Amino acid sequence: MDRIAKLAQLIASEYDERVVVCCVLKGGHQFFSDLIRYMKKTLNKQGKTVPMTLDFIRVKSYENDKSTGNVHISMTEKELAELKGKNLLLVEDIIDTGNTMKRLLETLAKYDVKSIKVASLLLKKTPLSCGYVPDYVGFAVPDLFVVGYCLDYNDIFRDLDHICAISDVGKAKYAI
Ligand code: 5GP
Repeated sequence: MDRIAKLAQLIASEYDERVVVCCVLKGGHQFFSDLIRYMKKTLNKQGKTVPMTLDFIRVKSYENDKSTGNVHISMTEKELAELKGKNLLLVEDIIDTGNTMKRLLETLAKYDVKSIKVASLLLKKTPLSCGYVPDYVGFAVPDLFVVGYCLDYNDIFRDLDHICAISDVGKAKYAI
């Protein structure tokens, strides 16, 4: 929470006009709500007004603990076109290989968005990284599959309050 409060202060200080804060579902949901809460606190304290539009996008690329290679983005043409000329802040749970975010940014690049920044709670230290690094990062984590605080393993463990690495026994038990 301390780290998220710090990130929120930094992000809030960098925007002076309306921003679309977009949660990358489902894993980013908890970080998104805590980040917004702290951003609002910071802005209120500073007496600064930065209107925030809240939006949601669903992106799915993993099965078990492996990337499927296919990135499915759930935004219609109309929704994407509405981002034209806007400041967009994407809020993601974790950057692993970076391929999901890279694909998402490539898609968004076609829609004349005014600015795009990415805040990710976690950045995994993996040799499989494509080199993508988000604008704002909460913590670097080791090359393990982590769950909790809305991060899942096959849609399980999102309800944990803490973040932890899933064991091989857990992976086998909840594999699909
Ligand atoms: P990337 O494309 O960067 O390899 O993976 C990004 C997405 O994969 C994340 O948004 C998340 O949904 C999922 N992911 C990658 N690594 C992990 C992990 O350690 N734990 C969980 N729960 N999801 C992960």
